[in-house]
Amino acid sequence: MPARKRTKYIKIDPQVPELHKIRLAARILQRGGVVAFPTETVYGLGANALDPHAVRRIFWAKGRPQDNPLIVHVANLKMVQALTACLPSRALELIRRFWPGPLTLVLPKSGLVPPEVTAGLDTVALRMPAHPVALALIKAARRPIAAPSANLSGKPSPTTGHHVLRDLRGKIEAVVDGGPAWVGLESTVLDLTSPVPVILRPGGITREQLQEVLGEVSLDPGTGENRGGAPPKSPGMKYIHYAPEGEVYLVEGDLFAMTSRIRELVALFKRQGRRVAVLATAETAPQYTRDPRPDYLEVLGSRQDLSQVAAHLFAALRNCDRHGMEVILAETFPEEGIGLAIMNRLRKASGNRIIRP
Ligand code: AMP
Ligand code: MG
Repeated sequence: MPARKRTKYIKIDPQVPELHKIRLAARILQRGGVVAFPTETVYGLGANALDPHAVRRIFWAKGRPQDNPLIVHVANLKMVQALTACLPSRALELIRRFWPGPLTLVLPKSGLVPPEVTAGLDTVALRMPAHPVALALIKAARRPIAAPSANLSGKPSPTTGHHVLRDLRGKIEAVVDGGPAWVGLESTVLDLTSPVPVILRPGGITREQLQEVLGEVSLDPGTGENRGGAPPKSPGMKYIHYAPEGEVYLVEGDLFAMTSRIRELVALFKRQGRRVAVLATAETAPQYTRDPRPDYLEVLGSRQDLSQVAAHLFAALRNCDRHGMEVILAETFPEEGIGLAIMNRLRKASGNRIIRP
């Protein structure tokens, strides 16, 4: 086990990253170090994808199970060609349309990719991030960068540099802090190795957007409620994930049923002496500002624009922990567009504690 180290904190301009700071972080990566950096989705924990020793240190720092493969981040098509055994035309089409951006493609891997990155699979997951800092860093390092989310395994993903420090200070060489990640949920993982492309993890690029390009796109059963269904095909989807310390309950129903039920539950849990938080929206928040009042209220954003909800979800879960919440009652969302990814993360955070009308 590597010794504890002083984690460098590098504050950087997210739009016009200072070159000397990028070079400093790139040098750490080239020497086999592990560096957290911002992407548009969440913060990534990066290491040289071609260096098995560096990659192993990512698993160690996160406490990540060895059988959960990493996404490799690239800055140009040349890297994609080097890392894949073949590049089907539909992959090129998706790359043209959605990269840089929150779409990860699972493709047959080349011999260049060490088994540590792919957990022994013969496929590799690739993505080009749409964040000036991430792109500058990969280019300056002149290597593809393996990077899972920069949180302790099982915890909500980090959307700020401070989230990363709270989880990983002392275990990694540096955090490059470029302010909050704007998408707030991880990339969509799309498996292109089967005849019909399969969404292994819903994310920033929606199923509807992919269907526009590909026609048919299926959804791995593991991404849904997974009530005794097939095991997820993406190894990472089977683990407890995104979970805060408090118990998360999802409350379903139309807005009236949902808010009434949450108010009843607030009263019930408070009678039990437990500290209760509610994750609400701009439209419903007024319902929770009169008795029975939760101990903590997070307004995720407007139901008219679910991208706001996506951007604030992980920070909200972490805030509940910071405020010592024992129970977290979350509203639910229609599973369309980015709503599919939001509900996927909420279900995992709740361990499937779902309250139906
Ligand atoms: P993270 O980077 O922590 O957001 O997790 C990456 C996600 O991509 C996990 O759910 C992995 O299981 C998934 N993934 C990475 N590589 C592959 C692959 N070759 N095949 C299927 N899923 C993958
Ligand atoms: Mg993760």
